[in-house]
Amino acid sequence: MYQKKQGSVAVFGSGISGLSAAHELAEKGYEVSVYEKLPEPGGVARSYRQTPSSAPSEYSWRGYGPFYHNTFNLMKRIPTDNGRTVYDNLSRPINFAFTKNKGKFIGELQWSDRIALAIIIARVAAAGDERTAYYASVNATDYMKPRMSQRGWKQFESTFGPWTGLSPKRASLYHVIFFIIIHFLPNSQLFLKHRDRDGEWKVDTLDWSVFNKPTSEAWFDPWVKHLENMGVKFYFNQGLHSIQTNNNKVYSTIVNTDDHQYPVKADHYVMAISPFGMRDVLEESISSNNSHSLIKMANQFENLTQDGPHIQVSFQIGFDKQFSWPGERQPVIISDSEFNITMYRQDELWDSDIYLGPDIKSLWSGTACVSYIPGSLFGKPVVKLTKVQFKEEILHQLSKDVGFNDLLREKMGKSFSQLLPNMIHFDVWKNWQFTNDRVGTNDSITIIEPKYVDSTNTRPHQPHTATPISNLWMAGGHTRTSTDIWSMEAAAESGRRAADMITGGNSVIIQDKGIVLKSLGTVDDVLYSMGMPNVVDILLIFIVLVCLIISLYWYYTRGPPKS
Ligand SMILES: Cc1cc2nc3c(=O)[nH]c(=O)nc-3n(C[C@H](O)[C@H](O)[C@H](O)COP(=O)(O)OP(=O)(O)OC[C@H]3O[C@@H](n4cnc5c(N)ncnc54)[C@H](O)[C@@H]3O)c2cc1C
Repeated sequence: MYQKKQGSVAVFGSGISGLSAAHELAEKGYEVSVYEKLPEPGGVARSYRQTPSSAPSEYSWRGYGPFYHNTFNLMKRIPTDNGRTVYDNLSRPINFAFTKNKGKFIGELQWSDRIALAIIIARVAAAGDERTAYYASVNATDYMKPRMSQRGWKQFESTFGPWTGLSPKRASLYHVIFFIIIHFLPNSQLFLKHRDRDGEWKVDTLDWSVFNKPTSEAWFDPWVKHLENMGVKFYFNQGLHSIQTNNNKVYSTIVNTDDHQYPVKADHYVMAISPFGMRDVLEESISSNNSHSLIKMANQFENLTQDGPHIQVSFQIGFDKQFSWPGERQPVIISDSEFNITMYRQDELWDSDIYLGPDIKSLWSGTACVSYIPGSLFGKPVVKLTKVQFKEEILHQLSKDVGFNDLLREKMGKSFSQLLPNMIHFDVWKNWQFTNDRVGTNDSITIIEPKYVDSTNTRPHQPHTATPISNLWMAGGHTRTSTDIWSMEAAAESGRRAADMITGGNSVIIQDKGIVLKSLGTVDDVLYSMGMPNVVDILLIFIVLVCLIISLYWYYTRGPPKS
């Protein structure tokens, strides 16, 4: 079935976008080679164990939402050793809780906040292309904060990191709100029924699924095995150094190993490399090749990455005893902690046979979602802490948070600090370098794979799949997709888009806005070009006027009510 070779493709990067492209291409009979700078696949989504007997760790825990069409479609096509598929490794939906207001989110929002939010959501949903570009350049905080109560805004803002992965400082109005809208588009899986080994369930809230084991064990290991079975060749520890072009065509690429460089030639080249990595490759390429197209692309990536990396530091806490947790499958957003910490209990969500590390009976995973606000223990933000200080600061914030400790006490009768004698493990993702790890420097924490994030400065510079170079294709969550938010789904969609460009296929499942939103968008484009307000505002004004006219008509034809 996979024997007939259609042509050769070199895919650079083995994150979700690279593996998605490789999957589609291999199935269509292309000869695919994947070159990856790191020793393992999965990119920023992978998990890792230092040795097989170490505790698992990842850059961050991750969720899979009802709009993950391309991701789920691929997962269903990856077999696992137990005769099922990767898709079956997903949990039932998780239930986000907030430490304030006994875990409720919407309950915290006053009616005025709900109405303000509804109008903002409607405006973004109905916006045409031009206004969308404008909303993507407007800072979400600047736009939304004055329209909401202080309390409501604080609660909503605390979801930026945990839900959308965005930074409250730089997130655009469009990205924050489109993240909500995308859950409800006509082809969303919301309200669809699913079946797992325990019976039927349906996705009926904004809740997301997570894997039942560390991400690489659940997804990337079986994926690479499946792709190898289809003939895909993997070259780890071999990163792209530069691209060589002639007449707007790539004729070779240079790949780095530990001790030498070698050329890689193929019919097509897919760049599934993170934006910061791609920027470096293009800079290297133009230093020896004066191609106009490469220079243009190098400028584009320079602009795309102008805000620098987004810093979210995840950590794991292991206990030698199994503790219960506030709720079933429940990540908790500790919205009033300085670092906007989220926590969840991995061992509750993972299969019981997953090895958690030496003597570890309970493994909790957390993320410090905000890196620039000083913590209350050392008075320093995440970016200025040493590794030891980071640990102490996190434990301090968890110990003092009233809402979090109320939830813990309610469930197990103990506060967080009462669990600390049982803590035997505290770890952060291996590739973080803290300030004190780098002799002679006093600047920010750094990481080998910097996290990209959508911001007010990114949308105009997002690369499309096709490039000015005829056999060079872009993939990655940062490229332009219908998903439009840097995520695993955008990465999966982008990989399939690149493959479709090469094969002439049609594998991408788009986020379908539906006829109503598309029609409103067309009207809004006209309104925007005339300098008029959003189509939603025009409709609201129209409705108010009609109500007024009906009331006046009623008043004058029937007279004022008689007392
Ligand atoms: C902390 C954190 C939390 C997240 N949470 C979620 C979540 O809950 N839900 C969600 O959907 N998304 C989440 N995301 C986003 C999601 O993980 C990414 O959008 C997605 O994994 C990106 O995949 P990618 O293939 O585009 O890029 P990457 O994963 O960055 O893959 C690029 C690959 O290219 C390799 N590479 C780099 N340079 C070179 C080179 N020169 N040559 C060869 N290879 C190279 C890299 O090593 C890497 O393996 C999160 C991301 C982070 C960092």
